[in-house]
Amino acid sequence: MHTDPPLEPADWEEFRALGKRIVDDIADHLAGLRERPVWQPVPEDVRASFRAGLPAKGMPMADVYEEFRTTVLPFPRGNIHPRFWGWANGSGVPVAAYGDLLASVINCTLGSGGNAAMMVEQQVIEWLQQALRWPAAGSGLLTSGASMGQVTALAAARVAKAPSAAPSTMPSTEPSAGFRDEGAVASGVQFTVYGSEETHHSVDKAVELLGIGRRFFRKVPVDRDFRIDVGALRAAIRADRDAGLHPLCLIGNAGTVNTGAIDPLRTLLEIAREEDLWYHVDGAFGAFAQLLPSHRPLLDGLAEADSLVCDLHKWLYMPFDVSCLLIRSEGVLEAAFSSSADYISSTAAGPSAYPVAFSDRGVEQSRRFRALKVWFALKTHGIGAFAEAIAANVAQVAHLAARVDAAGDLELVARSDLNVACFRYVWPGAAPDAADRVNRGILSRLQTEGLAMPSHTVLDGKFVIRVADNNHRTDVTDFDFLIAQVRAIGAELRAAEESAGPAGPAGTTPTAGGC
Ligand SMILES: *Cc1c(COP(=O)(O)O)cnc(C)c1O
Repeated sequence: MHTDPPLEPADWEEFRALGKRIVDDIADHLAGLRERPVWQPVPEDVRASFRAGLPAKGMPMADVYEEFRTTVLPFPRGNIHPRFWGWANGSGVPVAAYGDLLASVINCTLGSGGNAAMMVEQQVIEWLQQALRWPAAGSGLLTSGASMGQVTALAAARVAKAPSAAPSTMPSTEPSAGFRDEGAVASGVQFTVYGSEETHHSVDKAVELLGIGRRFFRKVPVDRDFRIDVGALRAAIRADRDAGLHPLCLIGNAGTVNTGAIDPLRTLLEIAREEDLWYHVDGAFGAFAQLLPSHRPLLDGLAEADSLVCDLHKWLYMPFDVSCLLIRSEGVLEAAFSSSADYISSTAAGPSAYPVAFSDRGVEQSRRFRALKVWFALKTHGIGAFAEAIAANVAQVAHLAARVDAAGDLELVARSDLNVACFRYVWPGAAPDAADRVNRGILSRLQTEGLAMPSHTVLDGKFVIRVADNNHRTDVTDFDFLIAQVRAIGAELRAAEESAGPAGPAGTTPTAGGC
């Protein structure tokens, strides 16, 4: 006779009924997104509910769901709304949510083992290789995000490119397997990393974590189109070699977060090969433009990099979080990360037998089954539907840019061939600080009134409204709406500026966020 285990539903019928209701509510919620504000502030009574202490006793799960429905559901970040274009968030394909739910139900950990979940992740990696025209011989790993991908890639680069006979400056009687044993300090190697000054800040974190030091991430100036200055790059590498440093890695951007700029990827590839550097491409969102024949020439060289990161939770519209690191040479990740322990060693057959151990390809041992939502969504829609959505985003941003260009009171400050455009409200004779104040005010009104959610950045010292369209729910009329709102709010705030005189009315600060 089994006893009822704790933490299981006391009544499976109750569990089933709540699940059906949740799925019904999900469908209503997603079908009605456009009617709701993009964002709204969390009221004080709701905030107070999140300060309640640890529950000592349980409550019916339907009541917990009710609390979710009233305190969490109405107050999200907003990125599933058709008019959200802030930072670099994605919109979330509905069917993928079922993949996430089922991943939690079967609750596999994806470190190693001979089971179907491992095979699904392997298959998703292979699908991404095909989608991005990456060589099939390579390897890969799904990660939480591109930030984790960058640090993993740089760690692999460091092991792959470490001087083979790094002289140890520390006396030791232990046998050494090289850089991984000796570490950076004892090996006496000071690595340097190169990328444009528009490179994402996750690379700063990576070089810091790896002990390379942020100072040795050389941020190379960019040209007028925010692409790396190749001459300055070559000079920086030469100077570092002359100084006895060890150039390690060159980063190419396939879509910078600020403006969507694409570095000359093939030229960078050639420089990396000449200089024997690891070539890493940050394609966090831009890599997916490989799906468009029109854009492949712009990304030429991407598929020959040593490593590439792409965030499926951005321009492949997957729910957070899922990103992929692709590596050109098989075995490189294992060379950097494999570690043996008796309790995790594999066996020839049975549940531990599988040729790939994802835990040997990165930092994480326990890993969630994030591949399943991707598998669900790609099987349901097929890659062609994703390519169409990406092409539509490119066309929408081109439409926005053309309308901004045509408007006398708007200035297009930067636009990319991808899905990013930066613009601002302008008027004749506007003082720079007044223009910045008005544009901050416009953005703040758009965001806090829940009208639309672009974000902002600063380009050439100017505060600009930034749109990054990773949203499969957007259509061009949403951008017509945005332009109408920006112009109307802009005219209002400009009038207030002018009547307030040179000091201007107090500016408002837009909400913070991260890319
Ligand atoms: C978003 C982004 C990153 C960081 O990715 P996360 O998934 O947020 O960790 C890195 N590079 C670029 C260009 C990005 O847009």
